[in-house]
Amino acid sequence: MQPVMQVPLLDLAAQYAPIRDAVVEAVTHVVDTQKFILGPEVEAFEAEVAAYLGASHAIGVSSGTDALLVAMMALDLGPGDEVIVPTYSFFATAGCVSRTGATPVLVDIEPVSCNLDIDAVRRAITSRTRAIVPVHLYGQAADMGPLVALASEHGVEVIEDAAQAIGATLDGQALGTLGRFGCFSFYPSKNLGAAGDAGLVTVKDDEMAARVRLLRVHGAQRTYHHEKVGGNFRMAAIQAAVLRVKLRHLEAWTEARRRNADRYRRLFAAIAPDSPVLLPVQLPGRRHIYNQFVIRAARRDALRDHLRSHGVGCEVYYPVPFHLQPCFAYLGVPAGALPEAERAAAETLALPIYSELDEAQQQYVVETIAAFYAKA
Ligand SMILES: *Cc1c(COP(=O)(O)O)cnc(C)c1O
Repeated sequence: MQPVMQVPLLDLAAQYAPIRDAVVEAVTHVVDTQKFILGPEVEAFEAEVAAYLGASHAIGVSSGTDALLVAMMALDLGPGDEVIVPTYSFFATAGCVSRTGATPVLVDIEPVSCNLDIDAVRRAITSRTRAIVPVHLYGQAADMGPLVALASEHGVEVIEDAAQAIGATLDGQALGTLGRFGCFSFYPSKNLGAAGDAGLVTVKDDEMAARVRLLRVHGAQRTYHHEKVGGNFRMAAIQAAVLRVKLRHLEAWTEARRRNADRYRRLFAAIAPDSPVLLPVQLPGRRHIYNQFVIRAARRDALRDHLRSHGVGCEVYYPVPFHLQPCFAYLGVPAGALPEAERAAAETLALPIYSELDEAQQQYVVETIAAFYAKA
């Protein structure tokens, strides 16, 4: 039987349709200038996104992963250094630590926001700890107040993984501006998505900003004269051009996501009040931007299959915490050691939340969930 309705997890075509002319014009301009790497388009984007975030420096890079890597390289992290990261995130958060030669120290999450547990961080700090990487998972702030205080007490750097959190705030301040570095991704499925890979590093101080800019171009201020070993972390001009168009719409898109989240809350209360489902919670002082709307559900895998077979896109972010990944077996963290992350991996499910979602689609999603549990 054909599903009654199709509700994709994300509908980029719906977002693109009303801005198509502006995007095509911006891309055409770049192609006409034949200036493809860095240059005026990237500089203009950096200035605009810095103003949007209230950041001192914003440096366009090649991806969110490279944003994390170049920030860690700017701090000269390497063998013998420890970097505390939550065990529950996208792979890059811990992968980049390993790539510098430093050791990722994996800590558990707190179950409400799925962000790193500040008490676990406190217990994990040693004399070798150089940095902490809080991830603002799904678009909501980690517990930055106590975390920044703890870090400064121990002389440890804070690198915010804000890949999912552009436009999210804590007590009115943009995420990515609270630590020494903020790292953003413009992967197409992020709230501000490029037409390919792109990312951004925000930095508080001039000295670190200069280092990141240097490392972005293989450590060479002057071409072919290398002061440091950096990488190719350059942002493409076409990406900057597309991002400049989309940045103008970001606040409206974010507000639409937030309205959709509230609408899910009303619909679940009305249609599925007895379903064994926990909805995401916006914690005090936070502006959640809902890069993902992640529920916890009983019999999660069966619910996921049911939703998909009824035309509803959904996804598990993330099914395997870092400490259970084969590539991190060398860290020696056994199964069961970080139970909240393991529980989240087994229970969480992301539902469609994109800005263009309409009420009928959301109602269908909730009805499909209610029907799943009713027949159980
Ligand atoms: C998307 C993402 C990244 C990596 O960004 P890319 O642009 O895909 O390299 C890093 N951390 C988190 C939490 C992410 O969601």
